Amino acid sequence: MTTTQLRGPLGPAAANEWRAALEHAAGCLACRAPGARCETGERLLSAYESAARQARSEEGQ
Ligand SMILES: [Zn+2]
Repeated sequence: MTTTQLRGPLGPAAANEWRAALEHAAGCLACRAPGARCETGERLLSAYESAARQARSEEGQ
């Protein structure tokens, strides 16, 4: 996996959250199982989404 992919679609602002979610999902059977839910994965993803949302709103100013 390249650094560009790890950085995610929204640049470095949410990079830490994106990487944390990716790294968790890569090693988590629950996240990879179809239809399964993982509280940790969902928490990491929502952390990424809020960071990305904040980055977008800051870029828009
Ligand atoms: Zn998980």
